[in-house]
Amino acid sequence: LLSVRDLVVEFPTRRGTLRALDKVSFDISEGEVLGMVGESGAGKSLTGAAIIGLLEPPGRVASGEIWLRGERIDNLPREKMRRIRGRRIGMVFQDPLTSLNPLYTVAEQLIETIRTHMDVSEKEARARAVALLDRVGIPAAARRIDDYPHHFSGGMRQRVVIALALAAEPELVIADEPTTALDVSVQAQIIDVLKEICAERGASVMLITHDMGVIAETADRVAVLYAGRLAEIGPVRDVIQAAEHPYTVGLMGSIP
Ligand code: ATP
Ligand code: MG
Repeated sequence: LLSVRDLVVEFPTRRGTLRALDKVSFDISEGEVLGMVGESGAGKSLTGAAIIGLLEPPGRVASGEIWLRGERIDNLPREKMRRIRGRRIGMVFQDPLTSLNPLYTVAEQLIETIRTHMDVSEKEARARAVALLDRVGIPAAARRIDDYPHHFSGGMRQRVVIALALAAEPELVIADEPTTALDVSVQAQIIDVLKEICAERGASVMLITHDMGVIAETADRVAVLYAGRLAEIGPVRDVIQAAEHPYTVGLMGSIP
């Protein structure tokens, strides 16, 4: 589904260029959950941002290619990339408030997203929004769908963000530390909801986290980033049992 080839991301600095991602290559196949781990600053978020075309300048893709279902997407015009984001690639960030607009109810935001990307009537969009919110654990019966984001707890907000990310039925969802800010007790529930819905739809997930325990429970394969390079990639079980890179070996000690 997605293919990242020799991705290099650089930042200009006063003393030259900082290479933040160095020839990172990996694939995500149809319906797969790929976990991505690595310590703070390893380049996980940059990888996600580069894929969705949201690298913040002065950061730039210096070389490499990104392909989505046979179409090269790393050099698309801004408008075209905007359409791919949201429609074909959904996003979930750590802070739900980066995805939600405080001025609109959750139903309004979902309907807007659905109608931006899909050719459906207002009524049909509302029906889809209600079904989706119900699916992520926000029942219409409680009228919560007509509430504003600030009426929700952090965990509930993140469920809304998942509904938003899935609203246009994307092929891939990139989740960057989607539960890091939440209580441990709700972390697993939220990841499960995301994983289940994607599994039903055959959508793939790139799950970025620094928590190897979460990866062990959810991912099919894991990619380990270390200092901007891909240290390891493979089925979670293999990487856990036969870690090669010293960083990964240390990481495995942290699985509960
Ligand atoms: P975390 O777990 O803390 O979220 P991460 O793996 O997501 O870490 P990234 O945000 O991808 O890390 O950053 C990777 C590296 O990119 C940083 O260590 C830094 O060297 C570089 N970097 C990121 N943003 C900038 C910037 N605006 N200017 C210069 N360098 C940057
Ligand atoms: Mg990050």
